[in-house]
Order: sequence, then C-alpha cells, then structure tokens
Amino acid sequence: MEDCIFCKIVDGKIPAARVYEDDKVISFLDIMPANKGHCLVVPKKHSQTLIEMNEDDLVATINAAKKIARALSLSFGNGSFNIVMNNGKEAGQVVNHAHIHLIPRFQKDRLRIKWSHLKYEGDEIKEYADKIRKFI
Ligand code: AMP
Ligand code: ZN
Repeated sequence: MEDCIFCKIVDGKIPAARVYEDDKVISFLDIMPANKGHCLVVPKKHSQTLIEMNEDDLVATINAAKKIARALSLSFGNGSFNIVMNNGKEAGQVVNHAHIHLIPRFQKDRLRIKWSHLKYEGDEIKEYADKIRKFI
C-alpha cells in the first residue's frame, strides 16, 4: 500500500519510536499519545480493519499486545491500561491500516474512555441477538 503511513513505518521508510518487532508485527509509540507511553500494535501485512485480518496475524498481534502491555506495566509501575481498536470511519479510524492502541492509565489522568448507556425496549435485546447470530 503505497500511501499507507503504517506500511511506510513497517518498511522503514519513515521513522518511528519502535518498542517491539517480530516477523508479523511491529509496535511503536503513537506520536500524539492519549497518555505518554501509548503504543500502537500493528500487523505488518496491510489490512484495513480487524475483519480483513487473517488468523495468523490476529494471533500474532494480540500476543504482541499482551507482551507490550506487560512491558508498559513494568516500565511505568502501573498495571492499568486500555486496549482500543478503531475500525472504520464512524468508529474514529483515521489510519486505514489495522492497529491496536495500548494506552497506559494512571491515577488521576485526564483520559476518559466511557460512554453513556442506552436502554433496550421490550424484546429488542433478543431481536438484536437473533439478528447478529444469523450472520455468525
Ligand atoms: P486511529 O484513529 O485508530 O486510526 O489512530 C491512528 C493513530 O496513529 C493516531 O493516534 C495517531 O496519533 C497515530 N499516528 C499517525 N501517524 C503516526 C506516525 N507517523 N507515527 C506514530 N503514530 C502515528
Ligand atoms: Zn498499510
């Protein structure tokens, strides 16, 4: 993918503060972090979203995320972190190369990853479950 910024990082064409690399995955610091230490975990093979990723890349990416989360916890002495993956424009995905955000959390940091809660009416919750199950 010629215009993909993360493919360029994978190919070493543009710099990044790398923290991890193996044959399938690379991880580097997000240049505009939600908290300092915020890492991106990126499968080397270009896929746009989670749904396009093959099983090998998925397994490698989530395993790498766990390794890096552990390293983040050890290096900052704090076991709290959020994993976020934005898939698609409406979900806030800006870089169209699948990636996982690993964001270390600190006491009294100002980051908010919370949403307001809606309610299902009547049988709606069952209808939603039925509809999703049909496509699995
Ligand atoms: P998303 O909204 O999930 O697509 O997030 C993309 C993330 O990539 C943002 O948090 C950006 O700060 C980050 N980002 C964009 N370009 C670079 C880059 N060259 N190096 C590191 N992080 C980047
Ligand atoms: Zn790419």
